[in-house]
Amino acid sequence: MTKVYYNGDVNEAALQGKKVAIIGYGSQGHAHALNLKESGVDVVVGVRQGGSFNKAVEDGHHVVSVAEAAELGDLVMVLLPDEQQAKVYEEEIKAGLEAGNSLVFAHGFNVHFSQIVPPADVDVFLVAPKGPGHLVRRTYEEGAGVPALFAIYQDVTGQAKDKALAYAKGVGSARAGVLETTFKEETETDLFGEQAVLCGGLTSLVKAGFETLVEAGYQPEVAYFECLHELKLIVDLMYEDGMAGMRYSISDTAQWGDFVSGPRVVDSSSKEAMKEVLKDIQTGKFAKEWILENQANRPQFNAINNNENEHQIEVVGKKLRAMMPFVKSKQKQKEAVSVK
Ligand code: NDP
Ligand code: MG
Ligand code: MG
Repeated sequence: MTKVYYNGDVNEAALQGKKVAIIGYGSQGHAHALNLKESGVDVVVGVRQGGSFNKAVEDGHHVVSVAEAAELGDLVMVLLPDEQQAKVYEEEIKAGLEAGNSLVFAHGFNVHFSQIVPPADVDVFLVAPKGPGHLVRRTYEEGAGVPALFAIYQDVTGQAKDKALAYAKGVGSARAGVLETTFKEETETDLFGEQAVLCGGLTSLVKAGFETLVEAGYQPEVAYFECLHELKLIVDLMYEDGMAGMRYSISDTAQWGDFVSGPRVVDSSSKEAMKEVLKDIQTGKFAKEWILENQANRPQFNAINNNENEHQIEVVGKKLRAMMPFVKSKQKQKEAVSVK
């Protein structure tokens, strides 16, 4: 069995007397910085001037430029968007790293695909919470945590593992469980999960179901509730008690339908497609296309994004959600923060 690390397995002394520089104050950055600080870790935030900078100041952090934070930090955690990291690393982070420091990531993309080549005299590891930043923060405040993976890429001090676990404890993840992985495994499984299942697979499944009902003449509002809104209830049940727990709660009719129709919708051809998606990730094809897309200022990303935002499910959904103020919108909260 794989070893799962919890709070009791962690040597907190590994971070004592060390300063942790959190680079970037977005989804993950704000959660790591606040959680670590409340766990008693000495934190400095490094981010460019603008909305994030102001928010970090408002949240009570010591906030400086990226270059200054990289200089001050014994551990430098890079929480910038993956596609920005290589450039900012070269221009603002690299010079601040001293021998024996730690260069830390929350996703292995840039190191695994050689976009960042770390100096030989620093520890390099990743601590990747397996959940969005706002949950990393919210669960911590509730006394819980989001599970995390850690991986050691380079251990020059002999303390990389202790530091990684102490960091994971500081953000609350060792309350839920921390697993060891490699940069390769974390990068490839993370990309695969978000593409085939969590984000890509899911949105395509929901859209196909919605379109099938609407094209057959059913009301779009009914199709929206059925294919999108109700999903949360089902996912919450799976999160709490697995697939069996979800099936226990639904009707036997729904369960029978699940058994006979599910495999007709996601069948062996979908699995073949998943294998191709995985292959493109493993060979670096996906990474290359995404890096080039960014270098070209994202023409395809923007065009697809605009089309997706105009899809009927989004138009109907916006109208219906406006009537459900109890459905908390992260987007609305974000807008409220940025106009403040
Ligand atoms: P976000 O996009 O939410 O945050 C980006 C932050 O970086 C913002 O504070 C932004 O500031 C700042 N920033 C962007 N460009 C620059 C720049 N050129 N110079 C200085 N600061 C800059 O990132 P995420 O939190 O989503 O992702 C961070 C890392 O965490 C990634 O490696 C990602 O793969 C990983 N991760 C993310 C998860 C998630 O839930 N989102 C889950 C697990 C891992 P500004 O406001 O000025 O733009
Ligand atoms: Mg990811
Ligand atoms: Mg039903």
